[in-house]
Amino acid sequence: MKFATRLNNIETSAIRELFKLLGKPGIISFAGGFPDSAMFDVDGIREATNTALTVDPGAALQYGATEGYQPLREQLSSFMAAKGANDVAPEQLIVTTGSQQALDLLGKTMISPGDKVIVEGPTFLATIQCFRLYGAELISAPVDAHGVNTDTLEQLIAEHKPKLVYLIPTFGNPSGALLSLERRKRVLELAVKYQTLVVEDDPYGDLFFGEAPPPSMLALSAQVPGSRDWLAHCGSLSKVLSPGLRVGWMIAPPELLARATMCKQFSDAHTSTFAQATAAQYLKAGRMPATLAHVRQVYAERAQAMGSALRQHLGEAIDFVQPQGGLFFWARLTGAKGKIADGAEFAKRAIEQGVAFVPGVPFYAANPDRSTLRLSFATADVARIEEGVARLAKAL
Ligand code: PMP
Repeated sequence: MKFATRLNNIETSAIRELFKLLGKPGIISFAGGFPDSAMFDVDGIREATNTALTVDPGAALQYGATEGYQPLREQLSSFMAAKGANDVAPEQLIVTTGSQQALDLLGKTMISPGDKVIVEGPTFLATIQCFRLYGAELISAPVDAHGVNTDTLEQLIAEHKPKLVYLIPTFGNPSGALLSLERRKRVLELAVKYQTLVVEDDPYGDLFFGEAPPPSMLALSAQVPGSRDWLAHCGSLSKVLSPGLRVGWMIAPPELLARATMCKQFSDAHTSTFAQATAAQYLKAGRMPATLAHVRQVYAERAQAMGSALRQHLGEAIDFVQPQGGLFFWARLTGAKGKIADGAEFAKRAIEQGVAFVPGVPFYAANPDRSTLRLSFATADVARIEEGVARLAKAL
């Protein structure tokens, strides 16, 4: 069969291939990007579902508006306001089928074949694949512990005049990095100066372990004149409540939002009204603050355990910054004392020892650092984390 040429440059994800190995009995997995299903607030969601079917069954089970179920848009507007973005009216956001769909809609509305797009190196693998499907030529901007380097970013924007810049400023996947307040403001200034759309993908911003991170660029855009006109923000309930609900949202300048809505109409008509009505009732019931407190505490313990175990068992062989939130450690093999320095080679040996993680290479759109790897601490409890890291030490 002859498939569309747009598929020519897309490979199936290396992560998906790896997942096939995870079925092996006894494997401890640090590989997934999933939240822990043991943490889902099942009672709260059951209650929200019941309420949704009781108070507004017609809407919950009927077709709905492409922009989203209005009571959910109102709840999300308040949710954003509580996080500092207090000027986003319900009409200024659309509900998407996960934030993944928001990324797809951005690709569809913004990217023509050959357009340049700047992403972080490393960045979210599905974004790389999605933007490439639309023919983007991806340019990789370096990231350190404080997020993307804004001096380099400015040089790249000036040189390449990209269609958009895609960033995960808060606890990036896979980098775990946190973009500093100063850099957030600088990115917004760059967006205005170069009239370039900046996409803030923010599924992890609520998962902080100690101090809250700096405000989102969406919240900060109120302080940088003109920047809201060049900013799209993607949010998601996946990592804090449930990815199976498939509820995400996007805030973007009106002309972009209108086009994204049109494309969504031809794609899935609307996000499941049943899921939206459930999410709306969940938020309305006021359960979110307790849920957030719980997941933050559990993930904080696991991140702490993984950091200590890595330092204890792998010592100088590995270099990482302790993440302050999110689900991931991003680490670099140093090659010290003749130990393995290649992430893919290490991943193979680790599987033999009964522990899985993802090597870093697939997360780069260009110029991969082969010594890197991503370890998720989300789904294993503290005892399994310690055992898994001990196995990593053996593999190394
Ligand atoms: N963006 C990033 C950075 C992610 O890590 C993920 C999930 N792994 C998504 C978007 C998509 O999440 P969802 O579609 O479930 O909201």
